[in-house]
Amino acid sequence: MRKIKRVGVLTSGGDAPGMNAAIRAVTRAGINNGMEVFGIRMGYQGMIEGEIFRMDSQHVSGIIQTGGTFLQTARCKEFYTPEGRQIAYEQLKKHNIDAVVVIGGDGSFTGANLMAHETDMVFIGIPGTIDNDLYGTDYTIGYDTALNTVVQAVDKIRDTASSHNRIFFVEVMGREAGFIAINSCIACGAEVAIIPEEHNQLEKVRKFLNERASKNKSSIILVAEGSKEGSAMEIADMIKPEFPQFDIRVSILGHMQRGGSPSAKDRITASLMGVAAIEALLDNQKSLMIGWMNEKIVHVPLSKTVKMHKTIPHDYVELAESIGTFLPKGIKKNHIN
Ligand code: ADP
Repeated sequence: MRKIKRVGVLTSGGDAPGMNAAIRAVTRAGINNGMEVFGIRMGYQGMIEGEIFRMDSQHVSGIIQTGGTFLQTARCKEFYTPEGRQIAYEQLKKHNIDAVVVIGGDGSFTGANLMAHETDMVFIGIPGTIDNDLYGTDYTIGYDTALNTVVQAVDKIRDTASSHNRIFFVEVMGREAGFIAINSCIACGAEVAIIPEEHNQLEKVRKFLNERASKNKSSIILVAEGSKEGSAMEIADMIKPEFPQFDIRVSILGHMQRGGSPSAKDRITASLMGVAAIEALLDNQKSLMIGWMNEKIVHVPLSKTVKMHKTIPHDYVELAESIGTFLPKGIKKNHIN
């Protein structure tokens, strides 16, 4: 296999705090190992439009502590088509780029995997998404920061909820997976978590409200945005008329969950993954995702991570149940890794 000399790096899909630390590590590790490193702006859109520039070590100084991604990110329709990917390939070839490190989520890796099959371009993925929903890795860049942001926000909501004996439906991110909802539920002592993995959760909410020991107590019900029952607002609208005795409010945390300075854990893991991506290229590896399992770097075939589904860790669910969080029946058996 040819030796990789010129490497592109891009961020794609939803932004996540810590992506900058990963870009920085890829760039510096690449340069330190004698490679030329190219930044690709705006994900696959920038690849197609030729938004490609050579980076030196200075380009990535002063970014490790910033949220977002300095290369910016985009969602690109053209990349879904073989024609779009061919244009992207030609742009890379104009710069003699022979490998690309893609920092993103499931969709970004699906696109990379397709292009790897269609062309001779080498791809390495680094998991960057606040949802932590990628198969083959315990951890994705941005998740730790987002979870801490949610915990801080829910703690504040709890203060006002308990002052007024209110019930709050709090909507948190998680389109496909309930990791943020379940773990912020544990961390905040929330009473109920509604997660995308489960059906028929309105019954659970009704049961909880009917069984509530004291009417004079606040409650927090966390709703992942991908809940099968609808948004927090929709659920609250359905429940309110059935429980007129309760003061029910809704809070949607929204995009604030994506922003902010990355946590130490996000910065460190992103840095280790960035270096590991370059090491994988030096070792002539291709079409794999750098993962983090049992506190160690692992390699996962891109084809596997895009095909398989990651489930909620069993021990977290057990922990939540053992401290009295009201969880859906059946989750324990259905979601063992
Ligand atoms: P994420 O990577 O965070 O899951 P998206 O699902 O939005 O984010 O994917 C980011 C980009 O990756 C898309 O805008 C598109 O350009 C590319 N992509 C996603 N899915 C596919 C696919 N099935 N085929 C080709 N490209 C894809």
